[in-house]
Amino acid sequence: MVLNLIFLGPPGAGKGSVAQAAADKHGLIQVSTGDLVRGEVKSGSDLGKEMSEIINAGNLIGDEQINQMLEAKLKSLTQEESFKGFILDGFPRTTPQATELENILSRIDQKLNGVIYITSDEEAIVTRISARRTCKVCNKIYNLVTNPPPNGKCECGGEVYQRDDEKESVVRDRYQVYLEKTAPLIDFYKAKGLLKEYDGNVPLQESINRGMELVEELL
Ligand SMILES: [Zn+2]
Repeated sequence: MVLNLIFLGPPGAGKGSVAQAAADKHGLIQVSTGDLVRGEVKSGSDLGKEMSEIINAGNLIGDEQINQMLEAKLKSLTQEESFKGFILDGFPRTTPQATELENILSRIDQKLNGVIYITSDEEAIVTRISARRTCKVCNKIYNLVTNPPPNGKCECGGEVYQRDDEKESVVRDRYQVYLEKTAPLIDFYKAKGLLKEYDGNVPLQESINRGMELVEELL
């Protein structure tokens, strides 16, 4: 049985942790469009060179290039004997991308089995993410509320700091982009009967457990 999944939800809702747990347990491959872009650039292929120029000019990679890489990657995965399914990370983020994903999947004779939607409101996310602190030395992550660094420093002795992308204003901006671009996907997948949702505003382990239960309902 193949299990192809998407995790949806606002940035900071815990999608990454839940997806990782599901991938580990069920042998699913996580496919990140960010990693695909980095890999292609590194490979020095014609497409990689083209994208490298776009990135260096400060522009975003277009849907067409992303789709092309994604299709090649998914196709090669499905041809592996050990293929059990994939989890997409960072894609689709917009309704046109979701439509294109359907085209890709039909061309490689696959389908989406489920979309796990982790809900969380803006304030809960801002509170959680803006409390994060990272060690400058070993990169260990703390949370000022739930897991504060002992005596204000990392256990390795390093100083902790707040990453720029975890500052309140940045978190709020990303949430707005999510509402505008990605939230419409929820209705898109609901209409197809693929959506399973739960409230991710709980401690991380609880969120992982709930997410895993929903994944298992799809098996
Ligand atoms: Zn440290």
